Amino acid sequence: MTKKKYKLLLINPLSTKRIGLIRDQKSIYPPMSLAIIAALTPEHWDIELLDENFERFEFKKADLVGLTALTSQVTRAYEISEIYKKKNIPTVIGGIHVSMMQEEALTYADTVVIGEAESVWKNVILDFENKSLKRLYKGELKPLVDSPQPRIDLYHSGYAFGSVQTTRGCPMSCDFCSVHTFNGKQYRARPVKNVVDEFEKIPQDKVYFVDDNFIGYSKKSAKRVVEICKEIIRRSIKKDWFCAASMNIADHDEVLKYAAEAGCRMIFLGIESELIDQLESANKKLNVKIGINNFSKVYDKIHEYGIAVLGAFIYGLDTDTPETIENRTKYMLNSNIDAMQATILTPLPGTPLFDRLVDEHRLICNNFPDDWARYDFVEVVYKPRLMTARELTKSIDSAWKTLYDEKRLKRKFIDALKATRNPISATWSYNSNLHYHNLVFEHKKDKLVQDLNL
Ligand code: SF4
Repeated sequence: MTKKKYKLLLINPLSTKRIGLIRDQKSIYPPMSLAIIAALTPEHWDIELLDENFERFEFKKADLVGLTALTSQVTRAYEISEIYKKKNIPTVIGGIHVSMMQEEALTYADTVVIGEAESVWKNVILDFENKSLKRLYKGELKPLVDSPQPRIDLYHSGYAFGSVQTTRGCPMSCDFCSVHTFNGKQYRARPVKNVVDEFEKIPQDKVYFVDDNFIGYSKKSAKRVVEICKEIIRRSIKKDWFCAASMNIADHDEVLKYAAEAGCRMIFLGIESELIDQLESANKKLNVKIGINNFSKVYDKIHEYGIAVLGAFIYGLDTDTPETIENRTKYMLNSNIDAMQATILTPLPGTPLFDRLVDEHRLICNNFPDDWARYDFVEVVYKPRLMTARELTKSIDSAWKTLYDEKRLKRKFIDALKATRNPISATWSYNSNLHYHNLVFEHKKDKLVQDLNL
């Protein structure tokens, strides 16, 4: 007997604010979690992916609607969910934000999946077909040995970068990060073959390994990266890529050597601050262990292999003043970092930071869910400790102007070229700086900033 056909509409919503860290057109990445959900959906379901990064939402018929959202996208996700709810088409929402805010999400969606959805998606589908869809499903943290290959064929062809995830989870618990809450403290890895098979199929020649930490924290995980790189080399796959890693990657010459040979052009390092007390209070243990005096040796070591360094910093940590923000800006410009990401401390649900700021009544953008769109790393949404929100905004605006000044970025490019001796790596770092330049200056035009009652 042929099974009844169903239609699943998967939606990647775009922040209602339409700017921010996730809205930099050239550095957006495909909605991988939806592609994994699609891969887990039985064959008698037709699947369509509506991606607001490329097309504005218009109502489309479906039997079931699935949405995912980071915090800054969730306002839009709820808007879309309500449109379907009114038409009696059930909606299922998942992702990191709703996993932390399930009560809120249940107001706007019929069903909420909390945690990693892979372990429960088949039940969601089965229950829907049996007309017994539940309101809440709790996903478990499973080993990634059998994780499916995402349906990358559903992605819009306009993405400049492909993406692959090779691990999940982090044993650290940085104050501002929710990875350990959502993906767990255990570092779980996919088999090398699965990773490289997926990497090979990506149509783009530029790829981002989306792991929070590609290198991991043990000799075993470093060995695994070497195996991935060797397999890429063995199969002669010619793609340029970048990844995020902890600063201990500089201890692994073999990893850097094979990574460079396999196409690694840039490594994103979460440096956060050049002040030891700030790293300690943010619980950034690994960077404290490395020691701020050794940071430049880390950058040099990465350069030695022709790879550029993208350093990520935070403005607005609790002990920040206009002076420390100015000093952080000078540090970024004078250090041998090639690309500079400087974003504003953002308390996302699921982080220790969020819980603390709620307890201390320091969230100033708290008209939820509308204000979640402002939690996009380019707006001050909380009351800083040592200055007003207006003073912090002013200091950061001035810092960004200095940091992303076009002449300085050109100088950074020349420095990156000298340090890496690799024009592709230097160009990648320059392009990253240009994206951040566009991002923050687009933000400054945003009228929401003026509307904010600081
Ligand atoms: S910031 Fe990085 S190291 Fe810290 S908890 Fe998050 S993923 Fe782990």
